[in-house]
Amino acid sequence: MRTARDMGTAGDLLVVGSGVLGLAIAHRARRQGLEVTVLEETTRPVGSSIQNFGHACFTGQADELQDLALASRAGWLRAAADTGLWTATTGTVVPATTAAELRVLEEFAAHRGPEQVRMLSVAETRAALAHEELDVVGGALLPLDMRVDPRTAVPRLAAWLSTQGVRFRWGERVLHTADGVVRTTRGTYRADRVVVCPGTGVGGLFPEIADRHGITQCTLAMALIERPERLPAHLAVLTGTSLARYDGFAAMPGTAALRAELAVREPELTACVANLMVTGIDGGLLVGDSHAYDDSYEPFLDAGLSDLLVHRAAALLGIDSPRVIQRWLGRYSDAPGTTFVLEQPDAATTVAVVTSGVGMTLGFGLAERVLEGAPALAA
Ligand SMILES: Cc1cc2nc3c(=O)[nH]c(=O)nc-3n(C[C@H](O)[C@H](O)[C@H](O)COP(=O)(O)OP(=O)(O)OC[C@H]3O[C@@H](n4cnc5c(N)ncnc54)[C@H](O)[C@@H]3O)c2cc1C
Repeated sequence: MRTARDMGTAGDLLVVGSGVLGLAIAHRARRQGLEVTVLEETTRPVGSSIQNFGHACFTGQADELQDLALASRAGWLRAAADTGLWTATTGTVVPATTAAELRVLEEFAAHRGPEQVRMLSVAETRAALAHEELDVVGGALLPLDMRVDPRTAVPRLAAWLSTQGVRFRWGERVLHTADGVVRTTRGTYRADRVVVCPGTGVGGLFPEIADRHGITQCTLAMALIERPERLPAHLAVLTGTSLARYDGFAAMPGTAALRAELAVREPELTACVANLMVTGIDGGLLVGDSHAYDDSYEPFLDAGLSDLLVHRAAALLGIDSPRVIQRWLGRYSDAPGTTFVLEQPDAATTVAVVTSGVGMTLGFGLAERVLEGAPALAA
């Protein structure tokens, strides 16, 4: 058997998966002085972590996850300072288009306070979205939320980590891991500790964990449309469907009425379990999304569904003829009623999976929890 040390990697920690979760863990461990190896079955990051909005929606998470969310925010800022990856700390704008949406925002502002939620007047909401005639009744700014560019953040982190001595083994699939022994398609490694962050690959490696939590796959219709010059690349916009979805907002008493309103006002968005939202990147506006759940995911992107999301987002932002640049189906692991799964199948192994589509938000906070929950890893 080859060991990580035999291979010259001197591995205190072996991370499986080069998504945001695996790399946040690698980043934190490297800062602690640990020697780290990352094994990734693809030859570059192509998983959920590059398919998404790049929206770190700290504020919308449940009250009990706020400490984790703020730890994650600090982690993103540290990673940005280290690597130069692009972040924006300009917050999220939530335009309210109806009184029911405004009520949820007002309740949320009263609940969380002005540091987390600033109510905006109609004029301020229109100014935030650079459109003087937007059909809104008010809005809110969530100033603590952050943005990253999902297409460059994780690749940038990987590139920087490799300059800091983290060993990357690309194109190497892990077949089995237990008790610090990791068998791959190219060999066998031994490491003091193994953290497995396989995203949608969890069922292949740890079927009993996937079964126990009911982990399935969620596919999401996404598009990149041309960004009008008036809208900045740091744009982050949530909508009424987001207020009905994210646990933090959804805990407000007004959400029941909002959901009832949406079912009548937006039956098509309700039917596709939409979280209509928009973020900006240099190359355009990221627009989505719908949610479909299946163990064996549907590979086809429905054109009508994609058009629905594009046109609703464009209408919201006052974009007359949206030009679609790309369309894709994103995919992540999902489990009912669970935001993330952290398990230790043996003393040397941790399995970490985000199961609710908020890995860009919580990834760095989970990295802290994974590493600090494992005393053997203390530098
Ligand atoms: C369309 C879409 C929109 C989203 N929007 C947001 C958002 O706005 N905000 C937010 O917070 N979150 C969002 N998410 C969720 C977020 O992207 C995920 O929660 C997060 O990226 C999960 O990170 P990860 O590292 O666990 O998974 P991944 O990025 O998928 O990484 C897992 C890696 O493990 C590798 N792997 C798997 N099995 C093996 C194996 N056996 N051997 C070796 N390597 C293996 C895979 O190849 C992959 O590279 C969105 C997701 C999607 C799809």
